[in-house]
Amino acid sequence: MLYKDLVDFANKLKRSFFIDNEFKKYAELDRALPIGHGQTISQPSLVLKMTFLLDLVQDKSSKVLEIGTGSGYQTALLAEFSGPVFTVERVKELSEEAQARLKQLGYSNIFYKVGDGSEGWIENAPYDRIMVTAAASKVPVELIDQLGAGGKMVIPVGPKHIQELQLITKDQDGKVHVQSNDMVSFVELKGKYGWE
Ligand code: SAH
Repeated sequence: MLYKDLVDFANKLKRSFFIDNEFKKYAELDRALPIGHGQTISQPSLVLKMTFLLDLVQDKSSKVLEIGTGSGYQTALLAEFSGPVFTVERVKELSEEAQARLKQLGYSNIFYKVGDGSEGWIENAPYDRIMVTAAASKVPVELIDQLGAGGKMVIPVGPKHIQELQLITKDQDGKVHVQSNDMVSFVELKGKYGWE
């Protein structure tokens, strides 16, 4: 994926479309905003950074797993530059709202699940890319297992409130490498391999 293509698309995609509350008027600010149920939509600069870090292949064929559908904003960026996107959200209402928005935008390569994404989505594994938009104290083992050879995963790892943005790569021999990037602050990944 070319950074310019990503930025051009993000500039066309209105973040306000993904926010249906009193914070809608702040959608153009580069700030994280509440989306209900105690969850937040990240600032656009970070969403772009994470998407670029994930390094989707140029021919838009990457098979992607996303954990934390939230508003669906990050999902739209992934779906625009990849093959199938399998997205998991634990809060049913958020998933349903995101589904309605993304259908309105016309995406047919997004598949939704309501459930615990810390366990991944085994039925469609392995994945070329995994994007986790909630913070785990350590990388869920299931997600590493479901990442294919040559795969990449972007995930915030660390305690509540402040985490390290990690790029995890699995080489052709199945060996896992970790590269640390910026410090970020995400809501918790809950569930079996997340926070209680
Ligand atoms: N990417 C989203 C932001 C998500 S905020 C966006 O662009 O709007 C993180 C989301 O992860 C929240 O919606 C939260 O409900 C969800 N989440 C937390 N733990 C989860 C889990 N174990 N499985 C699936 N979703 C989870």
